Amino acid sequence: MKLVTRAQLGWPASAAPSQASTRGVKIHYEGTIVSTKLLTDHGLCLARWKAIRASHLANKTENYSDVAYNYAACPHGYLLEGRGLGKRTGANGNQSLNQAHYAIVGLVGSSGLTQPTNAMLSAIRDGIELLRKHGAGNEIKGHRDGFATACPGTPLYAWVQKGAPRPTATTLPTEDNVPLTDADLTKIADRVLKHDGVIKVPGAASSNPTWTLSSVQTEILTRLDKANASIAALSTANSKLVDAVAKLAADVGDLDPAAIVAELTRAIESVEVRLDVTDA
Ligand SMILES: [Zn+2]
Ligand SMILES: [Zn+2]
Repeated sequence: MKLVTRAQLGWPASAAPSQASTRGVKIHYEGTIVSTKLLTDHGLCLARWKAIRASHLANKTENYSDVAYNYAACPHGYLLEGRGLGKRTGANGNQSLNQAHYAIVGLVGSSGLTQPTNAMLSAIRDGIELLRKHGAGNEIKGHRDGFATACPGTPLYAWVQKGAPRPTATTLPTEDNVPLTDADLTKIADRVLKHDGVIKVPGAASSNPTWTLSSVQTEILTRLDKANASIAALSTANSKLVDAVAKLAADVGDLDPAAIVAELTRAIESVEVRLDVTDA
């Protein structure tokens, strides 16, 4: 679970009323336009969650004590803390509905970004399981259950009706451990399809105008083998150098200055002796 706490958001403890247990959790969406830019910028998710809280606090009609939801879930799989655990939601429509279920909102809307990513569904599931450990019953419902609203929108409601299952494939880990979103995968698939399954590598155009997926894979493996061989050779050279330095250090340690002077003196004398011989 990738939880972003209130403290991390810079928020004080929630002033919402306590609600120690409920029959379960209700799922919501934003019901407005949500920018698809959220998909590629998690900073925008945090900014949006802060903006939602600010708008709720500014709402004089509802007179909210805090953001209305217990948690939010973003397209990148983060569970963003709202009122949090043990707090009554203000999102379900009226007092009795708020007492009956906690509330989690998916950061999708009625236009723009409307499809929850698998990572978002996983984060909502994380929120449901977290709330279940702290007083929530087993019910999973949509805002529209028992209240006249389109919330949580068609895609989320269809998922709720299936029992809100955790998606099997959420994210593929990448080198820097940034989760690959569904949108990323769609983009990659689009690019491959546009080139009829062939990836064109501009830098390699003259010698090898087209690369297929398998030839790219082979090339990468070949380069990895070469890199590994270079690393092995460097490692061998390095250990030889270490041995040589160690031997040199030991040799120097064995010698004392007097012995060196004596040795040099003997050498000089022997040269003189030979010179004498030559002169004679
Ligand atoms: Zn709702
Ligand atoms: Zn995000």
